[in-house]
Amino acid sequence: MAVDSALSSPLGPPACEKDAKALQFVEEMTRSADPVQERVLAEILSRNSQTEYLRRFKLNGATDRDTFKSKLPVITYEDLQPEIQRIANGDRSPILSAHPISEFLTSSGTSAGERKLMPTIKEELDRRQLLYSLLMPVMNLYVPGLDKGKGLYFLFVKSETRTPGGLLARPVLTSYYKSEHFKTRPYDPYNVYTSPNEAILCADSFQSMYTQMLCGLQERQQVLRVGAVFASGLLRAIRFLQLNWQQLTQDIETGSLSPKITDPSLRECMAKILKPNPELAEFVRQECSKDSWEGIITRIWPNTKYLDVIVTGAMAQYIPTLDYYSGGVPLACTMYASSECYFGLNLNPMCKPSEVSYTIMPNMAYFEFLPHEPNSAGFTRDSPPKLVDLVDVEVGKEYELVITTYAGLCRYRVGDILRVTGFHNSAPQFHFVRRKNVLLSIDADKTDEAELQKAVENASQLLREFNTSVVEYTSYADTKTIPGHYVIYWELLVKDLANSPSDEVLKQCCLAMEESLNSVYRQGRVADNSIGPLEIRVVKSGTFEELMDYAISRGASINQYKVPRCVNFTPIMELLDSRVVSAHFSPALPHWTPERRR
Ligand code: AMP
Repeated sequence: MAVDSALSSPLGPPACEKDAKALQFVEEMTRSADPVQERVLAEILSRNSQTEYLRRFKLNGATDRDTFKSKLPVITYEDLQPEIQRIANGDRSPILSAHPISEFLTSSGTSAGERKLMPTIKEELDRRQLLYSLLMPVMNLYVPGLDKGKGLYFLFVKSETRTPGGLLARPVLTSYYKSEHFKTRPYDPYNVYTSPNEAILCADSFQSMYTQMLCGLQERQQVLRVGAVFASGLLRAIRFLQLNWQQLTQDIETGSLSPKITDPSLRECMAKILKPNPELAEFVRQECSKDSWEGIITRIWPNTKYLDVIVTGAMAQYIPTLDYYSGGVPLACTMYASSECYFGLNLNPMCKPSEVSYTIMPNMAYFEFLPHEPNSAGFTRDSPPKLVDLVDVEVGKEYELVITTYAGLCRYRVGDILRVTGFHNSAPQFHFVRRKNVLLSIDADKTDEAELQKAVENASQLLREFNTSVVEYTSYADTKTIPGHYVIYWELLVKDLANSPSDEVLKQCCLAMEESLNSVYRQGRVADNSIGPLEIRVVKSGTFEELMDYAISRGASINQYKVPRCVNFTPIMELLDSRVVSAHFSPALPHWTPERRR
């Protein structure tokens, strides 16, 4: 075990009695991280001892760590797919969990192009709620007076479907916002939102965003914090304001709601909130019609103390843009969670984004850590990996997170790489390094190298009749515009110059690539409008050789040089962009429906 518990100073003093309880809970859990982990594993194994999955590995009722580790394999989603498919098809027998599967949570990670389906059980909602209940008590330690105003949070539900066996399948946040835990949450002066539940729960993303923005503008002086789940979501809200401020200010001026809002319950709810306020309308109009939108967030919401958005991991690409729109107010990353399990929270949420560390809460699941050696070839059945327990990780080292959950995932690889930065009591704190195998990400989408390769292959079929092929390619997530978009650099070999592919053909190639990408990408394009049209930039022939020369001049080995399939290093971007001969954008939306393909 790594740390003498006396080294961590306790959290406090709390802002109120309720906070004191929450902070004490954090202290207790982090002080006894190891015994809590032992208890959690024993609970999970004993309650699930008769599941098909655990019986398969002949635990024979054992609930201790050694037996568990010696008998159960470390697995990925693909290993569990047959079991998950059976549950989705309606098999209600205890396959993974003794408790009935209440629904599926659709992860933004994909498998065969579709969202992963994560089985969950009812009581997991309580566990998620518990983690949420710790966030404000921690924030109140650093930012006083949050009970004197409100939070403007842009929160959305997404579409849900049913599996063939009749279980709901939807994202974890949709499940949470639609739960009684959220809808009938008791009043908490430290956690009052400007958005009414009706606006958050409206399935139409335009109407939802419009009314949330309208409420935020109406109460601009009361707003003390502005947030969304991810940075990309908050920037989308800013973009929405850019596109819709005229209509919004008209509504504020007259006190009547735009006819574009058709949802009856939303209209009814807004009728109670909206009051004519010509002065406010004029103020917002003046701010929004200025040429520069620099600092717009604090101009409109002058009492904003921080932006509550995740800017760790892939979202770090949005920090400069958020700073631009906010004039540099602090960015708070409060929690680290997934569809599989909510993991933990940031005990120092006002720190710089680069210093964010999440403390995993030992009561959420049983956690193991697979040492991550970037250059190792992986492990085989003959040399199984040695996993480390939560309290045994070492500061400075990187690990892949492996979880065993109450809902029945056993030794499941989440795919996140974390680096240990320190401890709070005996619970380690982790910097989120990256998600494995993700090449491109604009919003919730996570596109890996294999998906990109397949998309390029599919699109390049369209070039065949022009006797043209793609000789090299790389990609870039362009987030300078909102929404951001994928840029794919193509070097072409055109064998018949008289018959080279036209702009129209290359546009169709863009669309063909989009059609080939995973469903989370296509949903972002079609339903959420969180990703812009894919762009192909054709570069001069010889450009990729120059790229290699550049890499070698910086020390890369000629023998081992591989074309990077994603770039974001400025000199390389400059080189590529200076060789662009033409740019083409996807002319239409790809196909997407909430239904799964399989
Ligand atoms: P999903 O299952 O779709 O909710 O996605 C969960 C994944 O999002 C995690 O496994 C992480 O890769 C990523 N994620 C969640 N929270 C954070 C965070 N605070 N910082 C960075 N990445 C995060």
